[in-house]
Amino acid sequence: MVDLKGQYNDIKDIVNPSIQEVIETTAFVNGPKVHKFQENLEKYLGVKHVIPCANGTDALQIAMMGLGLKPGDEVITVDFTFAATVEVIALLQLTPVLVDVNEDDFNININALKKAITPKTKAIVPVHLFGQCANMEVIMEIAKANNLFVIEDNAQAIGANYTYSNGTKVKAGTIGNVGATSFFPSKNLGCYGDGGAIFTNDDKLAHTIRGIVNHGMYERYHHDVVGVNSRLDSIQAAVLDAKLPHLDNYNKARQNAARKYNSAFKDIEKIQTPKTVNGCDGICDTCDCHVFHQYTLRIKDIDRNALVKHLNEKGIPCGVYYPIPLHKQKAYVDERYNEEDFKVTNQLVKDVISLPMHTELDDEQIEYITSTIIKFING
Ligand SMILES: *Cc1c(COP(=O)(O)O)cnc(C)c1O
Repeated sequence: MVDLKGQYNDIKDIVNPSIQEVIETTAFVNGPKVHKFQENLEKYLGVKHVIPCANGTDALQIAMMGLGLKPGDEVITVDFTFAATVEVIALLQLTPVLVDVNEDDFNININALKKAITPKTKAIVPVHLFGQCANMEVIMEIAKANNLFVIEDNAQAIGANYTYSNGTKVKAGTIGNVGATSFFPSKNLGCYGDGGAIFTNDDKLAHTIRGIVNHGMYERYHHDVVGVNSRLDSIQAAVLDAKLPHLDNYNKARQNAARKYNSAFKDIEKIQTPKTVNGCDGICDTCDCHVFHQYTLRIKDIDRNALVKHLNEKGIPCGVYYPIPLHKQKAYVDERYNEEDFKVTNQLVKDVISLPMHTELDDEQIEYITSTIIKFING
């Protein structure tokens, strides 16, 4: 699904000495590399504060702790996402409220969101699934009207732009009260192990969060709040700082691959290619509204298991993200839920298939993948 080796070969000359430097200086934790990466990412995103941490799941958890959410508070998020999003809500003894997504962009459905708000609701966690932003303008209006926090799960959309109706563009993850991202190796900006970060423009919240990631300390050995130990190590920061200047090009390479996939599939009725809904109605070079963490098709009247098996036989990796809606996962089933409210997710889990998507895909590979799929469909 991803070709990390090819990407590494291109940046080896920068990454290797940078890792070596960390080892030589032995500044393994909270070293200068971490601060440098933090500052560079703040500049890139146009956000006041980036707080690095150990992984994307921690980033979400710490964001919720920083906002002071309390057991019993209801937090609304989507039924169609990676489990980490709902896991941290449950772990903090907050009450997850799962809602359905849209048919076109697979992101949080605004009507479902509105319907789910109760007097106990305290926060909304939109997930920018597969690389494009949820409808943040409307989500922020709803949040404001109902006095709710917004925590963006930006693990899949780093570098994507969100365009407001007045044309203003901002980076995904910097719109809500707080944003959380992951630097897991296969993410659009991935390190060589685990890593994550929290973004916010709120000075007070940034201060609170900086203490939480470090055992609740604001002054050495003074523990004012219950915190966690969640740090980005210096070696990962060295890798990330070397890769950050390439992020826009990496995302462009993904968009290029998506464009080629789209054009190969455009006349195939049984295949629905990904839809971009914010900024433009295609994949354009200027709006960067979609950074294709995944390239996900919806297939109709095709036996998905047989297709997956066929692709594997032909040496083509593929994935099903996600095969089970969260409200049907054993850990998250709840009698509050009504199947009628999850019509789209219940269908998507049957229809979706994600194709190889990374920065090193070449024309020959794309042609092999698309022709293999089209031949399978046409019998
Ligand atoms: C990857 C991912 C996470 C978790 O990130 P980790 O760094 O693996 O903990 C959270 N949410 C979404 C949507 C993700 O894709």
